[in-house]
Amino acid sequence: MTHELVIDASLMGSMARFINHSCDPNCVTEKWNVGSELRMGIFAAKKILKGEEVTYNYQFQSFGEIKERCMCGSKNCTGNFDGVALEGQPVTSTA
Ligand SMILES: [Zn+2]
Repeated sequence: MTHELVIDASLMGSMARFINHSCDPNCVTEKWNVGSELRMGIFAAKKILKGEEVTYNYQFQSFGEIKERCMCGSKNCTGNFDGVALEGQPVTSTA
C-alpha cells in the first residue's frame, strides 16, 4: 500500500484474500483514507456476470529474485504478477 505498509493475508484476512490475480482483471483496487486509517477497496472495473471469477491485478512487488509465475490465460498475460513481462519469457496466450 505504501513503502512502509503492506498487506499480507498469508495468515489471516477477509474473503478478499481468496481473489486471484489476472493480467486482464474485472476489478481494480483503490486506496481510501477512512478516518486516520488507510484502507484498500476492491471495485468492479467492468460488468461481472453471475458465476464469473472476480480478479484484480496484484501489481505484486517481488522482494527476491524469484518471481511468481502467472498462468491466468488472458491474451495480455505478462507471465508474472507485477505486470512486467519476464525477460526472455514470451507473453503467453491460451485464449
Ligand atoms: Zn497473467
